[in-house]
Amino acid sequence: MKIEKREKLKELYNQYEEDVAEFKKSAACVKGCADCCIYVGNIDITTLEGMIIHDRVATFEEPLKSEIKAGLAQNKMEREKGKLSQCAFLQADKTCMIYDIRPFSCRWLYSVKKCDGASPTIHRKALNLAKQTVKKIQQLDPSGYSGHISYILFLLDKDEFRKSYLRGKFKPQKIADFGRSHGILINRSVSR
Ligand code: SF4
Repeated sequence: MKIEKREKLKELYNQYEEDVAEFKKSAACVKGCADCCIYVGNIDITTLEGMIIHDRVATFEEPLKSEIKAGLAQNKMEREKGKLSQCAFLQADKTCMIYDIRPFSCRWLYSVKKCDGASPTIHRKALNLAKQTVKKIQQLDPSGYSGHISYILFLLDKDEFRKSYLRGKFKPQKIADFGRSHGILINRSVSR
């Protein structure tokens, strides 16, 4: 995947942080509070973000690599049953294993009140800015898709899909059944 896209993605992440800095000053979030990674997390990512995570997982040594893959498969299974599931990258001390490359879903979310299992309370303006940023990320990834982290990583783990995606091919018909049953969005259709 082109380096420029990864750089542009970082710029979008940074721009959002800058835009909401004032709002986030009142956030109740602290390191080690991982409610959004456990209870209310609806961690959707784009294929662009998924590739960055896929590449990081590929650098993990065994048995960690297999453990993460098993965790992602478990996530996928639980999501398919409609259950909330703990993110495969959440560590025992409740910190994120891939914090430096975490997707935008994990970046925009904050709460001005401690969640304690409930939904986060976020400023409306920040929420709107987050929605706009999601669209910009999807526009940056026009031959890609968006969906739950475990579903997108599942697709990217398949050689045929990953190679075709990396070549910039756009073949939604190849994943039509999976896409329909797993709520996968086509970026170029939803980012307008
Ligand atoms: S990727 Fe990291 S920050 Fe995002 S849900 Fe998973 S553990 Fe939490």
